This record gives sequence, C-alpha cells and structure tokens, in this order.
Amino acid sequence: MQALEAKLKAYSNCKEVLACANGTIVIQMALKALNVTKEVITTPFTYVATTNALLWQGCQPVYVDINHRDFTIDVTKIERAITERTEAILATHVYGYPCDVENIQKIAAKHNLKVIYDASNAFGTRYKEKSIFEFGDISTCSFHATKLFHTAEGGALFINNKDYYERLYLYRSFGHVYDNYITVGINAKMSELHAAMGLCIIEDVDKIIKKRKKITSWYNEYFKASMQLEKGSADTDYNYAYYPVLFKDRHELLNYKNKLEDHKIFPRRYFYPSLNTLPFLSSPSPCRVSESIAERILCLPLSYYTTKKEVQRICSIINKCKPQLC
Ligand SMILES: *Cc1c(COP(=O)(O)O)cnc(C)c1O
Repeated sequence: MQALEAKLKAYSNCKEVLACANGTIVIQMALKALNVTKEVITTPFTYVATTNALLWQGCQPVYVDINHRDFTIDVTKIERAITERTEAILATHVYGYPCDVENIQKIAAKHNLKVIYDASNAFGTRYKEKSIFEFGDISTCSFHATKLFHTAEGGALFINNKDYYERLYLYRSFGHVYDNYITVGINAKMSELHAAMGLCIIEDVDKIIKKRKKITSWYNEYFKASMQLEKGSADTDYNYAYYPVLFKDRHELLNYKNKLEDHKIFPRRYFYPSLNTLPFLSSPSPCRVSESIAERILCLPLSYYTTKKEVQRICSIINKCKPQLC
C-alpha cells in the first residue's frame, strides 16, 4: 500500500495520498475531515455514489445544473444556490473533463466554502500542466476495475493540507496509532492485494492513455465527426477515459442500445439517472440540462483492448441513424 501511495504521489505531485478501500468511502471521509454536515452544492450529473456519500454522512445535497459544454457543474448557477447553511461544493470532473476549477475556487473563497472534487473519471487528466488531483481542498478517486487506472477495487484521497491528511490518516485506520487512541475511525484501508494490483498497472498509465487516445480517434474517424467535448479547452490534457454519444432523445438511445446489445455489444448509460430525480431525496429540484443529457447519453465501449475492427462494427451499427454526437 505504501509503495503504491509513493507512486501515486509522484504521479500526481500531491503532497499526500491515502490509498483506500473504494471511491465512495473516500468521499465520506473527505466530508468528515472537512467537518461538513449541512448543505453541500453538488452536481446531478455524476455516478450515484457522489450523492450517496453526502446522504450517508447526513449532508443535504443542493443540486446545481450542469453546463452544455462539458457537462460539469454550471459555475454561473452556483452562487444563487448558496445559503447560510452551505458548507461545501462537491463537484465531479465528468468523463475526465475538468470542472471550471478556477471559478469554483473563486466562489469558494468568497463564501468560505470547502471544495471536494470527485475525480474518479479523471485519473491522468491535467489542467494547465498540473494534475487535476491538485485542485480543491481534497480530491477523491475511485480505482474500481472499470476505471482507467484501477486496483480491482479501491480508491484514494489526494490531499495538499497537512491537517486534513493527519485526520484522514487516522480515520482510515480505526483512529489509533499503536496504543495511542486519538479519534473515531473506521477501516477504509486499501488491502495489500489490491495495492499489488495497482503496482502492476501504474507504470503503464501513460501507455494506457495513449492507446485510448488512439481508440478515440478511430471512433471519430468512423463517425466522421469529432466529439464536441474534445474541443473543450486548450489548457486540458485529456485522459480519453470515455466515449460518450448523445442521441436526439431517449427513444433513439434505447433503440440503438438494444441494437448494440443484439450484437453482444454492451454500452453503458452513464450517467443515468440525473441524480436530482432520485426517488429517495427529500426535496427534489429540477435540473433541466442534466435531466435532458442523462436521458440521451450513452458511453460506448472503450478499453485498452478495444480493437479497430470492434470500433468499426459499433460505428456501422450506430451510423445508420446519424446520431448527434457530443
Ligand atoms: C466509479 C465512481 C464512483 C464510485 O467508486 P467506487 O470505487 O465504485 O466506490 C464515484 N464517483 C464517480 C464519479 C465514479 O465514476
């Protein structure tokens, strides 16, 4: 575990990294370390774990809609959602594209809010030549087997503040060091077996990203269109983690998802549903952009082992309907 942490520190340039059990418990730990218990501004367009971590910690998610450009939280709508109970912003770097980290930082500083990034999609993404994990008070990441870098199951906290690190170090491992019992803690450690899995992969991350870039270019070639998202920002070194396709409507999406499944090709509705519509929320609120995108977006297969032939097959099935690509 320590060997993997050292490699992750070097890769991310963060002062401290804590390898943990998964990408959900690290969000819970970050909220606890920052003493966040009330309202948290968050995004509805992320995996359900982001919201679950908030609810599990007893926080109230306040959803702010996403922007059309890269589907991250719409920074122009954050300030009007702030109340005297707001304590933090928890935002997700969607598909590996960075949030507007500079404006989020400005808003947070102005209103004295903590910032946590769920960076589970963004391993390897760089912004203005810095690792994306360097932004915010704490960044969290999942290393689940489905992610670009993985440890089968696992996650990590990326921290630049010594106090937060010391607190989180204790939380991760029962709150004590030998016979010195300091605080309440849980068992959130990454197992040595999972860390060993990570050590097998970490040296290959650059190679993995390069290959995914290549596969993305095959998709773009066969679709005869490039993803709008890729036009994003010149400041971003993208990690090519996902290949999302946006359909005209839900009906068209389901139609083509079924067609692909008939050919034993399994794309994923990711992210779906828009989390502001979860049935177990106490006060749901509308987020029109997120609801619309979540209904219509499908992530196509993209792994290190995806072949050009497979991409060609997938595209020829989808090209028949000329979907609107994002
Ligand atoms: C995968 C993922 C998670 C959950 O991580 P686990 O390791 O499965 O707990 C949380 N948030 C986002 C954005 C994810 O992509």
